Amino acid sequence: MTGPTSFHDVVVVGARCAGAATAMLLARLGHDVVVVDRASFPSDTVSTHAVARGGVVQLSRWGLLDDVLASGAPAIREVSFHRNGVADVRAVKDSAGIDVLVNPRRYVLDTILLEAAARAGAEVRTGVTVTDVVRDATGRVIGVTGHDDDRRPVTLRGRIVVGADGLGSRIARAVGAPVIDRRHDRGSLRYAYYEGVGHVDGGFGRTELHLGDGLFGGVFPTHDGLANVWVSGLDEVVGARAGSRVDPHADFVALVEAADPELAERLRAGRPASQVRVFRHMPNQLRQPVGPGWALVGDAGYFRDALPGYGITDAFRDAEQLAVAIDRAFSGEALVDAALAGFQAARDAAVADIFTITVALSEQPPADRFVELQRSLASAIEAQALEMAAWPQIPNNQTKHLTGATQ
Ligand SMILES: Cc1cc2nc3c(=O)[nH]c(=O)nc-3n(C[C@H](O)[C@H](O)[C@H](O)COP(=O)(O)OP(=O)(O)OC[C@H]3O[C@@H](n4cnc5c(N)ncnc54)[C@H](O)[C@@H]3O)c2cc1C
Repeated sequence: MTGPTSFHDVVVVGARCAGAATAMLLARLGHDVVVVDRASFPSDTVSTHAVARGGVVQLSRWGLLDDVLASGAPAIREVSFHRNGVADVRAVKDSAGIDVLVNPRRYVLDTILLEAAARAGAEVRTGVTVTDVVRDATGRVIGVTGHDDDRRPVTLRGRIVVGADGLGSRIARAVGAPVIDRRHDRGSLRYAYYEGVGHVDGGFGRTELHLGDGLFGGVFPTHDGLANVWVSGLDEVVGARAGSRVDPHADFVALVEAADPELAERLRAGRPASQVRVFRHMPNQLRQPVGPGWALVGDAGYFRDALPGYGITDAFRDAEQLAVAIDRAFSGEALVDAALAGFQAARDAAVADIFTITVALSEQPPADRFVELQRSLASAIEAQALEMAAWPQIPNNQTKHLTGATQ
């Protein structure tokens, strides 16, 4: 049984950083788009919270940075780098039109994006799990099937199906998207939330980065007076410690101690405000992101170690490049498959340097080499932010009629 079928220009599966942004931009460009997610919103996902300058540029260009700041995410005005007990504190410089950074909780950020998609006219359907794609007689993808939370069948047809459904992408599996570049997956990351640990003063905060021997961590002041504290390193150091018989917070503080004793001291003086979460063996991989009638965006197409805190920015960049490519195809400027191939070329060029640096950093090289790579990363991030800041603006008149948002 397939149930009723609805027809759209684009079906987007996954409604967080990548999917909500893609749907929002396509809707602003005037296309009929439905975005579905098996989750309901607001809801959390496994992630820490630094939005790099390029991601903040995108939020600003899309008219959403004020909403993120108004949600209570502290405006980050300083970034400090700690090594061997010495802190180098710098002001966030004014560049690419941006002089603040933000570390919003994902349940806040993703909801802001999804609400913006709905305001732009995207149809938002949450509580819908996609199980497969629909193909025509030639094998071209023309839609998806799945079910809602009451197990009622759902069929959505679209000229293009976008998989924005994360690392374990169901769409990638259904279309057989191969991994075209796979590097090591030795990195793991642990994080928790603490009260009384982050630097926030008068609504302005400081993002901290701490480099230890084979460990790299940070403190991201976020909503509700909490700080997101994290440590990354090779799995044998970071992941393997997460045993079931130890107190997870004591174990986490011991790990932080190995990265920076001063930060561990602050954690002991602060108050844990969450469980400790661990993500082990983060893959570093690029999937083929396009094929006949389909495209992958965000983590579905490209996953990298979380250490540089760049996945949200990757998702925002790729969402816009994909939306613009699809718009070119629908407005007759390019054939659909050529436009999608253009998106792949743009994505592969955009990730090339930063991916290589990320992979090298996540191997936890000696500290001097780590610092050198961090500098290269900062330059590459800065260049990408400037590039995005110069992209043509997608109109945001938000005059479209809401087409059945469910949340
Ligand atoms: C430990 C960790 C820390 C990180 N820290 C940072 C950081 O500080 N800064 C940063 O920029 N990035 C960070 N990242 C990376 C960032 O979280 C991701 O790059 C980002 O979440 C990608 O967004 P996405 O929309 O592509 O995928 P996701 O956020 O994974 O969203 C995918 C969505 O698809 C939905 N979905 C999946 N399958 C289906 C289905 N079959 N049917 C319907 N819906 C489906 C899911 O419910 C989900 O809502 C971190 C990642 C990890 C693992």
